[in-house]
Amino acid sequence: DKVQLIDFLDQLADMFRIQAAAKGLEFRYARVPHLPVWVHTDSKILRQILINLLSNAVKYTETGHVALTVRYRSQIAEFEIADSGIGIRKEDLDRVFEPFERGRGAAVRAVAGTGLGLTITRVLTRIMGGDIALRSEAGQGSVFTVRLLLSEAMHRPGEQAERRAVTGYAGPQITI
Ligand code: ATP
Ligand code: MG
Repeated sequence: DKVQLIDFLDQLADMFRIQAAAKGLEFRYARVPHLPVWVHTDSKILRQILINLLSNAVKYTETGHVALTVRYRSQIAEFEIADSGIGIRKEDLDRVFEPFERGRGAAVRAVAGTGLGLTITRVLTRIMGGDIALRSEAGQGSVFTVRLLLSEAMHRPGEQAERRAVTGYAGPQITI
């Protein structure tokens, strides 16, 4: 699909600014100025990846901030989700991506969860051909970084309407 990346991200940021504010957290949102307006990607998958990580950031943070930073360089989009929350102990860093694995600390136990969010997030990231990295320390907050190859898409206004007129079909299509 073609996705209007900037609108898509701004809307997601609006949604999480409200969720963060409900917990008294500051929401920081920054994107590089040269982010492409349109990209080729699957917006449902991308949305699920970012929602999972931002939801965790809000969920595991009691004071301070949650931040979404988006960078773009040589067709690689980098989405960084950072928080000033409870952090993850060194011995849990690898485990948290495994199904049904939650951290071992008491602070984690205090919050409800099934331990599937990050497993799904990593699978979806791999489906998209990307990768996910995690840096964290107990009590020091966490930083998740998702990198995806997102090529810029050209957009001609009215393109969908033209196609529909010619073929009677406006669903997904490829040009060989
Ligand atoms: P759910 O399936 O509802 O998402 P969950 O949040 O416990 O449950 P995951 O999202 O897979 O499961 O996260 C796994 C574990 O990783 C969490 O239980 C928590 O210990 C740790 N974790 C994930 N994100 C963060 C974060 N931003 N800060 C601190 N710990 C985190
Ligand atoms: Mg979760």
